Amino acid sequence: MDLALTEEQTAMRRLARDFVEREVAPYAAEWDRAEGVDRAIVGKLGALGFLGLTVPENYGGSGGDHLGYVLVTEELGRGDSSVRGIVSVSLGLVAKSVAAWGSEEQKRHWLPRLCSGEAVGCFGLTEPGTGSDAARLTTRAVRDGDAYVISGTKTFITNGTWADVVLLFARTGSEPGHRGISAFLVPTDAPGLLRREIHGKLGLRGQATAELVLEDVRVPASARMAPEGKGFSVAMSALAKGRMSVAAGCVGIAQAALDAAVRYAGEREQFGRTIAHHQLVQELISDIAVDVDAARLLTWRVADHIDRGLPFTAESSVAKLYASEAAVRCAGNALQVFGGYGYTDEYPVGKLLRDARVMTLYEGTSQIQKLLIGRALTGVSAF
Ligand SMILES: Cc1cc2nc3c(=O)[nH]c(=O)nc-3n(C[C@H](O)[C@H](O)[C@H](O)COP(=O)(O)OP(=O)(O)OC[C@H]3O[C@@H](n4cnc5c(N)ncnc54)[C@H](O)[C@@H]3O)c2cc1C
Repeated sequence: MDLALTEEQTAMRRLARDFVEREVAPYAAEWDRAEGVDRAIVGKLGALGFLGLTVPENYGGSGGDHLGYVLVTEELGRGDSSVRGIVSVSLGLVAKSVAAWGSEEQKRHWLPRLCSGEAVGCFGLTEPGTGSDAARLTTRAVRDGDAYVISGTKTFITNGTWADVVLLFARTGSEPGHRGISAFLVPTDAPGLLRREIHGKLGLRGQATAELVLEDVRVPASARMAPEGKGFSVAMSALAKGRMSVAAGCVGIAQAALDAAVRYAGEREQFGRTIAHHQLVQELISDIAVDVDAARLLTWRVADHIDRGLPFTAESSVAKLYASEAAVRCAGNALQVFGGYGYTDEYPVGKLLRDARVMTLYEGTSQIQKLLIGRALTGVSAF
């Protein structure tokens, strides 16, 4: 793996950093308090090509490699995890799945819209009764002539109330577990699809998280993506790459924690000198720095494997597990450096900690990542 970035990757990172400094960071605290990111951000992300990274240009994407995608995702995560999540889901989970699994008609219909930001995508896997055990989902899609009629409830859906299309997973067959699951691209204005925003989240407050209730939602058979019974493969392949995206966002949180802690330690004085002079404060900062580097290198490794066509699924779980736990540790250590001031929303570290906390939960909890890594190494499935 070559750790030197290409000119193009360096330029991409600079573009993302400038964008975040201008359009995201100054508003992040305000959006957090208001429980809503300004929706205009979607068009701005699209205009810069950030919603089409790695998607082929002939479908409206901006092309590029996965390391470039990781660099942009880290910068967005550094500025605001709620904004980063919009991209990770609409592009990372939905558009990339359409590019990988969609029919020519589905690609031509959805990809240009998703890549430009004209449309937003959401990923509907989790249900009230099935989170980690997604293969037991109960939403049903019943074939009726040249259509499917879908009923069920999805919960915790990122971008849920903003989205124009949901990549939805539903049971079409009678086979138990993952074999009976199919994937559908369901327009969110379909009659019978109701959305309810979920409030009161610890973090990611700027992000629209929703419950989706489907009552006899009728979609043409052409809305099914990939063959019947292949839906779980679609979901798992999306999440394998999605975990790299979450890891990159976590590197961004950890880097933001490091920047804030170093700055504050050089300003705050106690015992007649700046707290940077106290060795135990330096320990907190060095612990954050080691976590940032380790999480970043593990995340880059995933992108490198994808770009070189190597297996990457276990590596993606390793990166997601480490980077998400590291983001929580780093934000906590940064808050410690800030002392009591870190506990108020006058400074950004409290929000970093709240936003980091969900990273060990979604796209597979830390426990589930450990089982996936253990399965890859031993060949034995604990599920
Ligand atoms: C803010 C937010 C956004 C989200 N966005 C999306 C989205 O866009 N789309 C989507 O589909 N989902 C989304 N999710 C759902 C998320 O992926 C699930 O919450 C997650 O998979 C965990 O499921 P659960 O909450 O039902 O927990 P559970 O599965 O009930 O787990 C509870 C606890 O039990 C542990 N556990 C479960 N099974 C095992 C096991 N076999 N061995 C050891 N421990 C186990 C877990 O690790 C956890 O600690 C989101 C969630 C949140 C909070």
